[in-house]
Amino acid sequence: MKIMEINQFIHCYKLELSYFKMPYQCDGCKELGFGSCYQCNNKKCDFHLHENCGVPKPITTHSFFKNSNFKFKKKRKRGKTCKACGKDVQGFMYKFKETYLHPCWLKLPSTLNGNFNRG
Ligand SMILES: [Zn+2]
Ligand SMILES: [Zn+2]
Ligand SMILES: [Zn+2]
Repeated sequence: MKIMEINQFIHCYKLELSYFKMPYQCDGCKELGFGSCYQCNNKKCDFHLHENCGVPKPITTHSFFKNSNFKFKKKRKRGKTCKACGKDVQGFMYKFKETYLHPCWLKLPSTLNGNFNRG
């Protein structure tokens, strides 16, 4: 079991990477997720993070937005909507100029197109 320490979350000292068959709500970006997930190893604590919210890239790019360098932001901003899904951004996000994206849209490039084409 991979264990990592994520210091920025005050109450959670250690988060374990585990696999979820059921959807969970990510406490970073507030979006639903399933599959691999960082979970607090305190069983009483209901804290989950997407894998890429737990270990975000500080700066990343997106093939849909040419010449863009999205920066990871932890603080939410009011009234911002995700360019990819149109829903409000309520937690972690990536920002480039006036474009905001939920972190789930900025996975590794190999899976990126698949995510956009789905549904
Ligand atoms: Zn915790
Ligand atoms: Zn997340
Ligand atoms: Zn979104």
